[in-house]
Amino acid sequence: MAERPAGERVKDFDEVDTGLSEEEAVAEAERCLQCTKPSCVKGCPVEIDIPAFIARVAERDFHGAASVIRENNILPAICGRVCPQEVQCEGQCILGAKGTPVRIGALERFVADRERESGIPVPRVDEPTGKRVAVVGSGPAGITAAAELARMGHAVTVYESLHEPGGVLVYGIPEFRLPKDVVRAEIDLLRRMGVTILTNHVAGSSVTVDDLLSHDAVFIGTGAGLPYFMGIPGENLPGVYSANEFLTRVNLMRADRFPEYDTPVRHAGRVVVVGGGNVAMDAARVARRLGARTTLVYRRRREDLPARQVEVRRAEEEGVEFIFCASPVRLLGDGCVEGVVCQRMEMCPTGGSGRPEPVPVEGSLFTIDADMCIVAIGQGPNPLLVRMLPGISRGERGNVLVDDEGRTAHPKVFAAGDIATGAATVILAMGGAKRAARAMDRMLRRK
Ligand SMILES: Cc1cc2nc3c(=O)[nH]c(=O)nc-3n(C[C@H](O)[C@H](O)[C@H](O)COP(=O)(O)OP(=O)(O)OC[C@H]3O[C@@H](n4cnc5c(N)ncnc54)[C@H](O)[C@@H]3O)c2cc1C
Ligand code: SF4
Repeated sequence: MAERPAGERVKDFDEVDTGLSEEEAVAEAERCLQCTKPSCVKGCPVEIDIPAFIARVAERDFHGAASVIRENNILPAICGRVCPQEVQCEGQCILGAKGTPVRIGALERFVADRERESGIPVPRVDEPTGKRVAVVGSGPAGITAAAELARMGHAVTVYESLHEPGGVLVYGIPEFRLPKDVVRAEIDLLRRMGVTILTNHVAGSSVTVDDLLSHDAVFIGTGAGLPYFMGIPGENLPGVYSANEFLTRVNLMRADRFPEYDTPVRHAGRVVVVGGGNVAMDAARVARRLGARTTLVYRRRREDLPARQVEVRRAEEEGVEFIFCASPVRLLGDGCVEGVVCQRMEMCPTGGSGRPEPVPVEGSLFTIDADMCIVAIGQGPNPLLVRMLPGISRGERGNVLVDDEGRTAHPKVFAAGDIATGAATVILAMGGAKRAARAMDRMLRRK
């Protein structure tokens, strides 16, 4: 897919990918072998009929293609942009065994963008069942559960603590990977399906547990937004941010445009980002766009980076410097962070885990100057509501324990997405929410 040159894109927040042209999309669709037993569908957690939608693209029936996708996916313009396609649908494409897989994600995005330009049609909604469902959280899990349940005729109210719905899609993933207008258009569809979305409503605080349990069923999709910290000296110094706080300030509160918007963010000449996942990559690329010299420190090797390779490449092209096999041991500063002391690590094969583990190298400390440090080493499940709900079992890390269909230990309460799995992906959250919505529907019809 075409993308804007690094020197240009690093100066703004506009989208990096420019998408497929109509001719490119049709040519790409014509590469599909139309397998009779398509393995790509097995790689898609929401089971889009991929060969059927691609066949319509090849026939230039873009609306037909969109309606095939929408049978199974309420967020195609989002998934087409942020799904880790290389390990999901495209990872299973038979053409990938000897060459390049069909670019399923890019085609999905093309179709969804075309559809948005002409107005997304509202899906058919079943006759009202008279049942009321509360959905807590409006990330990909909550949106998917709400859409599925509304389609089945249930009256759905979504409670969202932030002032804008979308979860990580609006507060975490930056505009240059996922424009907010794209997210807003797909969420607007929910409202057009009759779903009530109440923002600035914190379940477990401004919305009580009794309010929630007064519904016939409750879906929890509150995500994993609780940042982990390193627990090292100096981490409380001003100038140290969790990636979530930094990204929320810029993405959702537009701190990059302070004072036009109310929320500020520190402008640093030199930023150190700690971590190696998608969150770390996003934070580093946002810091670059705010003009900082940015270094990313990761405790393992380049080949161990959990972030998508395409985003690692783009971060490097945009000037993010990488230091591998190093881990911060303390932060320096007199009043504000001034440096990050790191220790070199070496990778040692481990016994049973199969994954080499980083081990500190004695006498290998070094310091990186920094006036901002962003910690992006992972997030845990949001604790507020799940601590208060009676009869919910939680795992060691605070995640809600559910069965394959999202049932919790409470008969009326279901959960899916990051709150159940721990930090994962958009499409896995959606797949889990879909299974939970089906199980909720069965439960509601039995009642
Ligand atoms: C910076 C970043 C980049 C990422 N990049 C990618 C990527 O490229 N591709 C990918 O597939 N995945 C990516 N992910 C992961 C992906 O975004 C998540 O797995 C996904 O959003 C999980 O969806 P969810 O609905 O479970 O939770 P969330 O998206 O976290 O949504 C939960 C929502 O619940 C709300 N909430 C929480 N508690 C309450 C409460 N008590 N009352 C009311 N509302 C509440 C929150 O405000 C939030 O809006 C990224 C994550 C981050 C943080
Ligand atoms: S939703 Fe994600 S996994 Fe499914 S076809 Fe689209 S890009 Fe692939």
